Amino acid sequence: MIQAAPGARRSPDAIVVGGGVTGTSIAWRLSEAGKRVLLLERRGICAGASGRNAGITGAGSGMHESPATIRAVYAITSANLRLLKTLHEELDTDFELRLPGRMDVITTQEQLAYAEQVVGPKREAGSDVELIDPDTARSIMPGLSPGILAATYTRDRGHLWPFALVTGMADAAARLGAEIRIGETVERLTRSGDRVTGVVAGGETIFAEDVVLATNAWTPRLLPDLPGGALVPARGQILVTQPLPPLLACPFGTNFDKEYGRQAPGGQIVCGGFRRLDVNEGLGTYREEVTLPVLAGIARCLSDLFPVLQGKARVVRSWAGIMGFTADGLPLIGRYEPSPGLTIAAGFNGGGFSWGVIVGKVIAGLLSGQEPGFDLAPFRPARFHDGNVAWENPFTAGEKNNPRHAQQLVDTA
Ligand SMILES: Cc1cc2nc3c(=O)[nH]c(=O)nc-3n(C[C@H](O)[C@H](O)[C@H](O)COP(=O)(O)OP(=O)(O)OC[C@H]3O[C@@H](n4cnc5c(N)ncnc54)[C@H](O)[C@@H]3O)c2cc1C
Repeated sequence: MIQAAPGARRSPDAIVVGGGVTGTSIAWRLSEAGKRVLLLERRGICAGASGRNAGITGAGSGMHESPATIRAVYAITSANLRLLKTLHEELDTDFELRLPGRMDVITTQEQLAYAEQVVGPKREAGSDVELIDPDTARSIMPGLSPGILAATYTRDRGHLWPFALVTGMADAAARLGAEIRIGETVERLTRSGDRVTGVVAGGETIFAEDVVLATNAWTPRLLPDLPGGALVPARGQILVTQPLPPLLACPFGTNFDKEYGRQAPGGQIVCGGFRRLDVNEGLGTYREEVTLPVLAGIARCLSDLFPVLQGKARVVRSWAGIMGFTADGLPLIGRYEPSPGLTIAAGFNGGGFSWGVIVGKVIAGLLSGQEPGFDLAPFRPARFHDGNVAWENPFTAGEKNNPRHAQQLVDTA
């Protein structure tokens, strides 16, 4: 037990809970700022969503419509992307960042109408996204089905190797003196009145000036006063093929980004999506189990969009991971106003690798008394206390409540 007894080890300045991309980044940057940091991780570094995702990264979001939100999301995620470009030097780790651009493949009139609506505001926010015709799309990615209607293409987007990035940041934090304990579950927060004073983990009470929850989907378990429905677990599933010759020139998304994939530098295609074929769309479960209908849907998506794969590609692996979806599709980043001493960086929906590395700097700055340098208002962690929580998560719109999307892929007949 860490206690401030004479001669005993001093309490940390900050306890970071969670060893994913967010927690390791925060622990690293806090250590760099001279704080004594203790990172507690229930399973292993990168064992949560950070080790189970597709590794696509970029800036902005295709899913938010308000210009103010688009601007705020674009500002912070672009800073994340800029930082990623130099991070391998800072970390001395090659996490296989590749930036060949990103394509959103449009296969229905509804997707086309949506793309026409959002391309303008995204460009105003600074994105170079372009709406392109099928021939142009196929000149970039020749394996695409001739049945597509259009695409949006954004340069300077890409993919990376999540495990290498996250373990690289954990190593960097440890080199700067952070203590990292794995297999250590935080059972609860300790409080003095409203103030959070530390955590209880493995029966031990550990005090700190600041506690940071980087627990993504698991945050409501440690923070039961978060209004119900504000942050919910959402299961995503992935399949991976054998190494194949180059086919996906850049990462792709389709169907409002509900399906997505990339080809890793080693040739394996990593593809996910089709939560709408999961039990309750994968919402509300912490079970990391794959389900056949979802995997079959993902496989069909791949072979519909890239007909050359039909009957050729062998699936060698599949897995499930748990994301933290928020009611408005935006993450929770910053001090948690109802409880001084508590800071939250969680709820990254389907895109934590476009946020995690800059969020470490933002949180380390906040806990060192600096201005964040970004408009964090849309991400205020206590915003769901302001009124009833309405489920408006754009990543789920058009799933259950619009089941016809389930069948709408490219008709290659
Ligand atoms: C199938 C799938 C595909 C995805 N694809 C992409 C993609 O292509 N691009 C992208 O950017 N994002 C993608 N994501 C989302 C991305 O993985 C997440 O947004 C990101 O990993 C969140 O990182 P995190 O560190 O906040 O959370 P996590 O990586 O989930 O880390 C939270 C950690 O907290 C630990 N923890 C929880 N409770 C406790 C406790 N009580 N005590 C101690 N430790 C605790 C957990 O064990 C876990 O390791 C995908 C996710 C999934 C599941």
